[in-house]
Amino acid sequence: MNDYKLLTPGPLTTTESVKGEMLFDHCTWDDDYKKITLDIRRELLSLAHVEEEDHTVVLMQGSGTFGVESVLTSIIGKDEKLLIVANGAYGERMTDIADHSGLSYTVYREHYDKVPSSDAVQRMLKDDAYITHVAMVHSETTSGILNDIEAVAKVVKAEGKTFIVDAMSSFGGVDMDVEKIGIDFLVSSANKCIQGVPGFSFVICRKDKLMESRGKARSLSLDLYDQWKTMDKDGKWRFTSPTHVVLAFSKALKELEEEGGIPARAKRYARSNRLLIKKMKEFGVKPYIDEKNQGPIITTFYYPESSSFSFQEMYDYIKERGYAIYPGKVTEADTFRIGNIGEIYETDIIKLADIFRQFFQEHGLEVTE
Ligand SMILES: *Cc1c(COP(=O)(O)O)cnc(C)c1O
Repeated sequence: MNDYKLLTPGPLTTTESVKGEMLFDHCTWDDDYKKITLDIRRELLSLAHVEEEDHTVVLMQGSGTFGVESVLTSIIGKDEKLLIVANGAYGERMTDIADHSGLSYTVYREHYDKVPSSDAVQRMLKDDAYITHVAMVHSETTSGILNDIEAVAKVVKAEGKTFIVDAMSSFGGVDMDVEKIGIDFLVSSANKCIQGVPGFSFVICRKDKLMESRGKARSLSLDLYDQWKTMDKDGKWRFTSPTHVVLAFSKALKELEEEGGIPARAKRYARSNRLLIKKMKEFGVKPYIDEKNQGPIITTFYYPESSSFSFQEMYDYIKERGYAIYPGKVTEADTFRIGNIGEIYETDIIKLADIFRQFFQEHGLEVTE
């Protein structure tokens, strides 16, 4: 098998040194290990620009969806109601979670290429007094759009509701002041912009809101409050922790700091993203999301306009030359996606553009450069 770099938005390409941390089988009960968990939680608070007095972090085994499911099924009580704001598959996944767990909820759906409107959210909150919580995705990885959580947070806070954000593919790649924005629960995972490997998600919580959720959980293993209570004592996880993943994540956090923190990483991602879009436009390949709303994480591109184009053929061609791209996920158009997070630099984007050029030329697809 050829080695390739991932242009998928998590799992993503990690450093050799992050991968290297996983060669050691750490025990889970001793103080060394518990300290690693405590340090990770402290560092995540600092990356979110919040203080230990009123915020805390809960790590949860499983992929990102487990974190979202943990929050939704742990903090929304039997007599409470959730408004889900959805403009992509990850917003829709929250409705799936709500259905499975029997949550009372309503949905505000927006087109996949449009940012949800805070006015619409406000109207829904005013019209339905039963709504107590609002949940939305920040970077909708389905399309690559970056939603305006600041504007929505304002109306959610003005109405006195709890705000839950799936910042899975943005936290660490976009600088966010969690307190100032007004996010009560932010969910992300180890294998996205912090550049660790898959295995756990993390939730940055307002402590008072987390405490209010005691006894509300509908699941044993995903009980956010109980997970926190155990972990907060001394850093021991409630059930077996993904030790190798935790070690890799701890290293990834140190490497984020060495890079210059989130501002430096955000700049690198944004630069790669803009360069990629510019290069693809030179070949006549257009992005699905408007420039104004395009996020810096992943880009959806329309297929080239030609009956002879095959995504599978293009995918294989690019993979043989060292990069794995991503199929499209939007429903109304034929698209593919390219992520630019992880250990991906401008040199990779330039190399990738050359591979695309070759492919288009060899296959008689229009290259307008
Ligand atoms: C990756 C991601 C998730 C979680 O997906 P998993 O497959 O469970 O890791 C959730 N929301 C968004 C926006 C994502 O990008």
